[in-house]
Amino acid sequence: SSSKHDKDKGVNVQVIVRCRPLNEDEMRVHTPVVISCHENRREVSAVQNIANKQIDRTFLFDKVFGPTSQQKDLYDVAVSPIVYEVLEGYNCTIFAYGQTGTGKTYTMEGGARKKNGEFPTDAGVIPRAVKQIFDILEAQNAEYSMKVTFLELYNEEISDLLALEETSKFIDDKSKKPIALMEDGKGGVFVRGLEEEVVTTANEIYKILEKGSAKRRTAETLLNKQSSRSHSIFSITIHIKECTPEGEEMIKCGKLNLVDLAGSENISRSGAREGRAREAGEINKSLLTLGRVINALVEHSGHVPYRDSKLTRLLRDSLGGKTKTCIIATISPSIHSLEETLSTLDYAHRAK
Ligand code: ADP
Ligand code: MG
Repeated sequence: SSSKHDKDKGVNVQVIVRCRPLNEDEMRVHTPVVISCHENRREVSAVQNIANKQIDRTFLFDKVFGPTSQQKDLYDVAVSPIVYEVLEGYNCTIFAYGQTGTGKTYTMEGGARKKNGEFPTDAGVIPRAVKQIFDILEAQNAEYSMKVTFLELYNEEISDLLALEETSKFIDDKSKKPIALMEDGKGGVFVRGLEEEVVTTANEIYKILEKGSAKRRTAETLLNKQSSRSHSIFSITIHIKECTPEGEEMIKCGKLNLVDLAGSENISRSGAREGRAREAGEINKSLLTLGRVINALVEHSGHVPYRDSKLTRLLRDSLGGKTKTCIIATISPSIHSLEETLSTLDYAHRAK
């Protein structure tokens, strides 16, 4: 879809699908593949032919990335244009949506980082975006400042992934310092008590990202929860000083949100225990609300239900209006995930 045109309408949502390859275990047991990706036609097909259960569905998206796609391919096509928008002063959001184990975190953060300085080929969207932003600003010799926040939304509660020095403290009540989502009185929100780190080099951001995601993992282990139930939001805010042709100074401000959503699987289907039902409900609430918000924006229906979940309240200034949104729906090719894959494709398709 042409971005100029969409921007005039005030809505710009791109939906892309990425299918991961079978993993080693799945290959060893010859797991049947039921998904085919036609990158040129921008289509994903799900085909399964078993008596009583014939499935043959094809979905069209803005872009489709098959199992052999590389991190760089996806970045260059789906994310790089959005970074330019951010540097023009827009607020933009990239979501990874999908069932647990389909590559949301791989897509957003990437594989293990090499320590020898060179940029890893399996680096994900976040480090690539950071690198691109610094590269552009430095090439332009721009005067700018940049800050990042990294938070987690779990069970409709916000925790700060940058706040604590040691993850071992996480289990103490220090980590319980409540972080509140406040209305700013101008229709926006801010998160009270959230750390903002000013960054001046790409390497600083890589360290922050690593620290934050390590904390996310450790906290999960300590608190015995699963990463699949939390959303993480990594936000980069950039202020750039500019001179108008008339010689007037002005500040352009743009923001990029990179969101690794909670697993989209229907927890009740997998037999969730009682105590977990609420959690599951809360997560679905954010995911469902996100779907409704995006639907309302795409369809220009009057009421956009931002207020119905913390996730959409948090991202309100970056969804709708003059913003760009990209949803990366991640799926597995395996026959065993077919039902979840179809619901992911349906959700993603509704957002178009
Ligand atoms: P999620 O965050 O959606 O739960 P992960 O990102 O943790 O899923 O991915 C699950 C596993 O699959 C990880 O070991 C990851 O490295 C691997 N993986 C996911 N997507 C890809 C891909 N496109 N190419 C190669 N490996 C992948
Ligand atoms: Mg993950």
